[in-house]
Amino acid sequence: MSTAPPVVTIDGPAASGKSSIARLVARRLGFTYVNTGNMYRAMTWAVINAGVDPHSADAVRAAAAGVVLESPVVEGRTQVCVAGHTLTDAELNSDSVNKAVSLIARVAEVRERLVADQRALIAIGPLVMEGRDIGSVVFPDSPHKIYVDASEEVRASRRSAQGHADQVAERDRMDKQRKASPLVIPEGAKVIDNSHITLEQAVEQVIAALKL
Ligand code: C5P
Repeated sequence: MSTAPPVVTIDGPAASGKSSIARLVARRLGFTYVNTGNMYRAMTWAVINAGVDPHSADAVRAAAAGVVLESPVVEGRTQVCVAGHTLTDAELNSDSVNKAVSLIARVAEVRERLVADQRALIAIGPLVMEGRDIGSVVFPDSPHKIYVDASEEVRASRRSAQGHADQVAERDRMDKQRKASPLVIPEGAKVIDNSHITLEQAVEQVIAALKL
């Protein structure tokens, strides 16, 4: 029997509502919340700040190898720090990061490095970790897998309500079609359609599906 702390994995497309759900589920369970999208966003912020063209996989690979990324826990959730600077929400969600993040995230070496960092976070204790490949690649043996979906219209309007001019459909297309760990419904995941239910209902569905 495994003695590793449990990891609730929550995957899904952009603006499906998975971050809000994951944060509340983590709070309800007393687990640490990890937003892995922010790790890819922090890496993207560092790479574009270094003046690198995000379309050049070779240049991204070289620049990313030198980025020092840390994930300290503050008030029950991980932050992302690059070379000691804690990134703000404005930096993580800037237009330039929104545009480039799926280009950075398709580089296999970037993914290998961040997946290793994500697995190492289990040292913190029980986790709720959300992203695109958490149940399929990062913790494929977890028995606690959730996939949150929502219609494209609902996702686009949620994103603009948050004030982000984000190309949700284009990011999803790249995330689903990339060679390295594309967005998929992980084997054994409970699928929750979050198009027309409240946040509280979604959280209840997740908690009810977990066998903790
Ligand atoms: O979750 P969020 O929308 O902030 O993620 C930003 C981007 O980071 C995604 O569009 C995807 O390209 C990448 N990502 C990923 N794998 C993860 C989490 C995010 O490729 N586990």
